Amino acid sequence: MKREHLIKPVLGQPYAIIRSGKGVFLYDDQGKTYLDASSGAITAGIGHGVQEVIDAMAEQAGKVSFVYRSQFTSEPAEELAKKLSDLTPGQDYWSFFVNSGSEATETAMKIAIQHWQERGLPSKNKVISRRMSYHGITMGALSMSGHALRRRRFISLLADYPVVEPPYCYRCPLQKTYPTCQIACADDLAAAIQRIGAEHIAAFIAEPIVGAAGGAITPPDDYYKKIKTICELNNILFIADEVMTGIGRTGKMFAMEHYGVEPDLIALGKGMSAGYTPIAATMVKDHVMAPILQGSRSVMSGHTFSANPQSAAVALAVIRYIEGHHLVHAAHTRGSYLIAKLQTMAVGIPIIGDVRGKGLLLAIEFIQDRVSKQLFPPEAAITTRIIDAAFHKGLLMYPAAGAIDGAGDAILVAPPLVITEAEIDLLVQLLEESIRQVMVEITDSETE
Ligand code: PMP
Repeated sequence: MKREHLIKPVLGQPYAIIRSGKGVFLYDDQGKTYLDASSGAITAGIGHGVQEVIDAMAEQAGKVSFVYRSQFTSEPAEELAKKLSDLTPGQDYWSFFVNSGSEATETAMKIAIQHWQERGLPSKNKVISRRMSYHGITMGALSMSGHALRRRRFISLLADYPVVEPPYCYRCPLQKTYPTCQIACADDLAAAIQRIGAEHIAAFIAEPIVGAAGGAITPPDDYYKKIKTICELNNILFIADEVMTGIGRTGKMFAMEHYGVEPDLIALGKGMSAGYTPIAATMVKDHVMAPILQGSRSVMSGHTFSANPQSAAVALAVIRYIEGHHLVHAAHTRGSYLIAKLQTMAVGIPIIGDVRGKGLLLAIEFIQDRVSKQLFPPEAAITTRIIDAAFHKGLLMYPAAGAIDGAGDAILVAPPLVITEAEIDLLVQLLEESIRQVMVEITDSETE
């Protein structure tokens, strides 16, 4: 076998080589076409090969691609920071640019801790997160993530941060039912704060809608208002990890707009550049920056490529494209069309337990039995098999944590926001074929 040099996710496994992409489709070097129903990793929000972005990239490259942030600033970086703030309801955010979602959440954590240090409260240095959450792969971000599988190898090196129960209504961790539960999972945050002491807690971090760690887990409408009140009462900052949900994906520019809550800090990534370049952002509200501006006047973080003008120009072009083509609204309308089709499909497929999500961040959860909601055994590898079956048919799907940490077996359905109704029809047709194929295989193996 030819010696390899690139470390790929599964070593020794062959990977197709993608030569080009256009819109929602990718094309490999063997002539196979893939319908990208997962936008890669919920990233390629505007689809592939958008000329306006290619032009912006070339234009900025023709001026200057890199300046070092400790020496200079640049027009695209300044403009992008203003643009992101303008997109929020309150328009009062600063931005710190980084290169990945993990860096964005980790920087949010550091800025939250620094905020309290500058206010003379250095003991406020823990971050509470939720079980079934994913905030990134770097050590700080992983310390705040409830993703057991990704933490396992490094557990001894991670900060000992507490986790609270998620608003997972389909499989309520507290065995309650909304609305009679009165959102008891939010009370779990209040209980954790009481137990640990607010004087030790800098922030609470949550994905507005849980992505990879559970599959589009969407809280009740009033959950975040209750969470924000608990945070405010206890002097704890609220960090919204909008790495997956931000920039239109859920049918609002920021998913927190669905819930009428303005976070103190926001982490962005993925759809912010739609994958055209690595760039991410930590957005920080004025009141969080105020003590830093009056104190040390410097945020103690940063990377060589932070605020890179080339990447900033690309992100600006992506956001302008989203605005110019009304793609936030499209995520809402096409999301409604897609979820309705998935729900219709689910009626005839007994192994589908739940179809959920907002906009074009949707998920399907699989179960053995609809009444008991019993999970498939791990060795059934249900989501992997469905994703593999879809892949063979040229349909790309994204796994949400398969039955770990109390989550069920789910896959995300999150195509680019530019997907057309005809492409959605094709997506659902291929997905239904894939699920039915695996369902038949499972039934056959049970009767053998
Ligand atoms: N937060 C969330 C909600 C994510 O979904 C991800 C990536 N799946 C991250 C953070 C980490 O982003 P990245 O992979 O760009 O480091």
